[in-house]
Amino acid sequence: MNISGKTKLCVIIGDPVDHSLSPAMHNAAYKDLGIDDEFVFVASHVKVENVKDVVQAVRVMNIRGLTCTIPHKLEVMRYLDEIDPIAEKIGAVNTVVNENGTLKGYNTDWLGTVIPLENKIGSLNGKSVALIGAGGAARAMAYGVIEKGAHLTIFNRTKDKAEKLAEELGKRAQTRTLEEMAQEMPKQDIILNATSVGMGKQIDQTPVPKEYIHSGQIVFDAVYAPRETRLLKESNKQGAVTIQGIEMLLYQGTAQFELYTGRIAPVDVMRRVLHE
Ligand code: NAP
Repeated sequence: MNISGKTKLCVIIGDPVDHSLSPAMHNAAYKDLGIDDEFVFVASHVKVENVKDVVQAVRVMNIRGLTCTIPHKLEVMRYLDEIDPIAEKIGAVNTVVNENGTLKGYNTDWLGTVIPLENKIGSLNGKSVALIGAGGAARAMAYGVIEKGAHLTIFNRTKDKAEKLAEELGKRAQTRTLEEMAQEMPKQDIILNATSVGMGKQIDQTPVPKEYIHSGQIVFDAVYAPRETRLLKESNKQGAVTIQGIEMLLYQGTAQFELYTGRIAPVDVMRRVLHE
């Protein structure tokens, strides 16, 4: 790291934030491209009631980039000068770029879903996609696959939330209950898990019984700790192609890196940091 008076600052805010892998991922990329004298990336633990003041600090301190993680992705939108139309549609901002005092909000989370899927399958156009979950991660995943022409079915424990999400997507998705998985899941080309089942206290659980998964399907788990969830282990055994949640983290980060620096992100370096 080669910090000088000209080095630009990028900051991730969250509550909590100390688990964040973004500083390691971005700083390694700066170093790899030899721009660690131009940019440095740090984390800051911020309570939601202080987001307004943080945005003002970004403006007056000429901070280049502000990354927002849980629970700040909605709150930050209130204080920005411009919001990218995609972020507006998703209803959340995870990336703020400061262009000479004008703060513009973007969402790169949807790219974290779409790029790993396209890397595996090519086009998503016409594919049938099952999404389990209707929270924050589900919202960006749903937008991404619909935008790429897939047919989406949302399964959620609380059906009202699935219906609300489908409504917000302009009714471009169907909704089903978890009990309807048996008939619906085997027909899907792609299965996306956007619930917290498979992590923390639910580490031994899976959101989709393995009987509904078969070869020819792609199974993508947003959960990234553990890297290989029970869902992914069982999907592998059933012959499906799997994608780990760490890929989602990676590609939302590469898109963000490119917005902050204007350079092509060194994907392999950033992936290696996440795996380490
Ligand atoms: P969230 O907004 O709290 O939503 C949680 C979702 O999980 C809800 O749909 C909830 O259903 C469902 N759920 C929770 N426990 C369940 C259970 N036992 N059975 C069935 N459904 C259950 O959380 P989020 O921010 O969307 O995060 C969801 C997951 O995605 C987390 O594991 C998070 O770590 C991961 N994530 C990964 C990335 C990445 O880059 N890889 C990015 C963001 C999030 P109800 O509506 O019924 O409560």
